[in-house]
Amino acid sequence: MTDVVIVGGGLSGLVAAIAARQADLSCLVVEKGRSLGGDGNYVEGAMGVDSRLQQAAGIHIDRTQLLQDELNYSHYEASAPHLKQLIDHSGETIDWLADLGVKFSGVGAQGKSWPTIHAFAGGGHAAVETLIAKARELGVQFVRSTSVQQLLMNDGKISGVSLRDEVTGLTSEVATQHVIFATGGYVDNPELIKQQTPLSDRLMSVSDGKSTGDGMQLAWSVGAMHDSMGALQFGGGAIYDPMLPPFMHMASQIGVAATQEAILWVNQAGERFVNEDVNDNMCHAGNALLGQARTFAIFDAAAVKHLSEVGLYKAVGNSPFSPDTLDKLPEELAGDLAAHRKYLAKADTLADLAELLHLPKLVESVDRYNQLVDEGVDSDFGKAADYLTPVKTGPFYAVTLGVGMACALGGLRIDTDNAVLNPQGYPIPGLYAIGNDAAGMLVGDTYAVTLPGSTAGFAAFSGRNAIAAITRE
Ligand SMILES: Cc1cc2nc3c(=O)[nH]c(=O)nc-3n(C[C@H](O)[C@H](O)[C@H](O)COP(=O)(O)OP(=O)(O)OC[C@H]3O[C@@H](n4cnc5c(N)ncnc54)[C@H](O)[C@@H]3O)c2cc1C
Repeated sequence: MTDVVIVGGGLSGLVAAIAARQADLSCLVVEKGRSLGGDGNYVEGAMGVDSRLQQAAGIHIDRTQLLQDELNYSHYEASAPHLKQLIDHSGETIDWLADLGVKFSGVGAQGKSWPTIHAFAGGGHAAVETLIAKARELGVQFVRSTSVQQLLMNDGKISGVSLRDEVTGLTSEVATQHVIFATGGYVDNPELIKQQTPLSDRLMSVSDGKSTGDGMQLAWSVGAMHDSMGALQFGGGAIYDPMLPPFMHMASQIGVAATQEAILWVNQAGERFVNEDVNDNMCHAGNALLGQARTFAIFDAAAVKHLSEVGLYKAVGNSPFSPDTLDKLPEELAGDLAAHRKYLAKADTLADLAELLHLPKLVESVDRYNQLVDEGVDSDFGKAADYLTPVKTGPFYAVTLGVGMACALGGLRIDTDNAVLNPQGYPIPGLYAIGNDAAGMLVGDTYAVTLPGSTAGFAAFSGRNAIAAITRE
């Protein structure tokens, strides 16, 4: 009999596995992919409040105010006890990770947010590698290329899991009284995403493709409550290129120019529809972009010259760090135009660009926008005056925008021990959920990027929290 079976060897699963061994519990991690770490490999940073790093940097956060802000942001759809628990224990969780050897390069804000994101030195992959090494050292057992297919129950309690080897198709069973779902949520499951929004064709997952909602569906199959589908973690605007998978554009400077620099966005009619500096909250930007049928970023040759040679108009809102210039922007534009990438268009005049993309009101919208720039006040949508940049000098560029999404939260309801609840609000004995599988408790209908790093912070916190609850049983 194994004390704990952890389903998913990503960020939350690795943390739970280490915590289990530290509590002297035998532990098996079942990972359906060939490699470990899940989307934890791509994470930039994790949330913490009152970590040693923040104390050293002189950052103090009023916890009560933070809690109130997040509850208001979610229209009180987030659970106050779960948020409070995360806020109160997130700093010590960051310190625990640091004590394991995880390195952080800094702590700060993301756009207009609380300064809670602790950036992993070397990115999420370096953090994950440290956790894998620690888990192995402590004697965690891993099986890879293996997925959990079914939960086994006895007298209403968890009694084991049925496994399938993804390579051979062979099945086996493991006896345990505790299963922790750490399967990463459902961002890669189009059917479940459609329950969130009907506009799923313009949404692009930038996940590793393995977050298919397995944990929640298996939990539902043994009577877990179908909770609301929570929130999608939008990465704001992103290049919408039907010719390439979305992650291929993640390091693109064209992408930064088009989404982060707050120049001019228009919709399918060529009309402006929002203050483009909305990208200071990438999830709000995602909502604004999805409200239109098609969306384009429009900029001119003067912007390309400024961004590549002088500097950014605006700090990058979805990252704690901004580059000095977009020095590769002219080269990238030339390369992608030569490759006839469908997301990118260029024309000598705005009228030609409008005709090329069928944007009937583009010329009129740009005239109006330039008038606002001249006046120095965006009396249409309220973009900050600093970001009012003219669009006057040909050639002109249009980048088709969609919305990237990093993860999807919701579907399960858990208590503050991370135990999975049934529709009556009682735990299913032996069943736990952590990380994205449980993070619907922290959000309303829009991810709280005002608390940056919260999914990674919760992944780490909840992994330890579930194990602490199991050891108290
Ligand atoms: C590009 C990108 C950047 C991100 N950046 C940030 C960031 O900076 N800050 C932040 O807070 N969040 C970020 N996120 C969100 C990220 O998803 C979480 O922070 C974190 O990875 C959640 O951990 P997790 O353990 O829930 O999921 P994951 O780390 O994705 O792990 C889930 C694991 O479960 C496995 N699995 C799934 N189904 C099964 C099954 N049936 N059987 C066995 N194994 C299974 C998967 O293969 C995967 O390895 C980012 C996500 C992406 C994609």
